[in-house]
Amino acid sequence: MTLDRTLRTVDALVEAGFVPAAEAEPIGLVAARYAVGVTPAMAALIDRADPTDPIARQFIPDARELETRPEERDDPIGDHAHSPVAGIVHRYPDRVLLKAVHVCPVYCRFCFRREMVGPDGDGTLSAEALDAAFAYIGAHAEIREVIFTGGDPLVLSARRLADLVGQLSAMAHVRMVRFHTRVPVADPDRIDAALLAALSASGKTTYLAVHANHPRELTDAAVAGLARLRGAGIVLLGQSVLLKGVNDDVDTLAALMRGFVEAGVMPYYLHHPDLAPGTAHFRLSIAEGQRLVAALRGQISGLCQPRYVLDIPGGFGKAQIGLPEIEALDDGHRVTDFRGGQHVYPPLQGDE
Ligand SMILES: *Cc1c(COP(=O)(O)O)cnc(C)c1O
Ligand code: SF4
Repeated sequence: MTLDRTLRTVDALVEAGFVPAAEAEPIGLVAARYAVGVTPAMAALIDRADPTDPIARQFIPDARELETRPEERDDPIGDHAHSPVAGIVHRYPDRVLLKAVHVCPVYCRFCFRREMVGPDGDGTLSAEALDAAFAYIGAHAEIREVIFTGGDPLVLSARRLADLVGQLSAMAHVRMVRFHTRVPVADPDRIDAALLAALSASGKTTYLAVHANHPRELTDAAVAGLARLRGAGIVLLGQSVLLKGVNDDVDTLAALMRGFVEAGVMPYYLHHPDLAPGTAHFRLSIAEGQRLVAALRGQISGLCQPRYVLDIPGGFGKAQIGLPEIEALDDGHRVTDFRGGQHVYPPLQGDE
C-alpha cells in the first residue's frame, strides 16, 4: 500500500528536501499541533525549486500555522452543534454526515476539521459508536442521503468500507450514498476492484465528491482512478477550496474546473476557506473570491462552473456567495451578463 511511504514527520520532510534543516524546529512545533501527511503521489508533484509551489503550499507545514487569529475557531463550521450521536452530523433534514474515520491520506494545511483529524488514537469510531450511528440513521426516516466524510472514508480497507456501506442497503428510506474524499488524487492506486465494490455495497445511487484544488493534482493516475469510479456507475462531483497562493487566479481556477470536467467530474462546490486555526495565510477576501468566480462565468463551459459557497460559522450550513446576477427593480429586474453588461427584464404585462 502506497500510504506506507507517506511522509509523516519533520525528519522525513527534511530528508525529502521539502523543509530546510534550519526550519526543522518551528516546523516541528506545527507538526506537534496539526497532523502531517504527504503521499508519494503528492510529493512527486512538488517542485522543490519553487518556493511558491501550490502543491507544497497545501501539504508542507508552514510556521505561520502557529499564529491563531481571534476570528478563527476550533470547530469553524459548527459540526459539534449538530451531532446527535458520535460520528453523525445532522444539520439539514434530509441528509447526514457520517464521520466513521478521522484519518486522511494527506493532511491539508488549511483543513476545516484540522482539530478533529489526524492519526492519533485508533482512527475509527468504536464498534459500539458505529452501531449507534447506524441505529440513528435507521430510526430517522427523513434521512434520504448518507454522506461518508471524515477524515477520509476511502482510507478504510475495502472490507471495512463494504461492511459499513452495506449496512445501508436494508434501509429503504436511504436513497443515496455520497463519499467526500481526497483519495483519487492523493493515492489513486487505492481505487481497485475491491474498493469499487465497497463503495457500491449499498446498492443505492452513489455519488463521490473528489477534493482537488490545483489542476496539477489531476494526474494521469488520478484521471485513470476517476475513470474506474465512473466505470463502476458512481457519479463524480468536484469539490475545491479557494486558497490564496494555490488557485486564486482565473487561469488556474479555469484549468482546474476544465480538468475536472474532462475527467468526467462535475464541479460542485468551490468553498471559501473556513476560519480554521492557523490558516489566515490561505484566506482571501470574499470580494476577491467573487471577482474570480465572476470571471469564470461565460469564459468556460457552463459544465465547469462551481457553486461558490461559504459554510456559515457556527453551524448554520452553506450559503452561496457569488455576486447576484439579477436584481429586483421597482418595475421588473436588472440582469447582468458575463461581460458585466446590464439589461432590463421587463415586468409581467396584462392580466393583473
Ligand atoms: C455540507 C454539509 C452537507 C452536504 O450539503 P450539500 O449542500 O448537500 O452538499 C450535509 N451536512 C452537513 C452537516 C454539511 O456540512
Ligand atoms: S482530506 Fe479533507 S478532512 Fe483530510 S485534511 Fe484534507 S481537507 Fe481535512
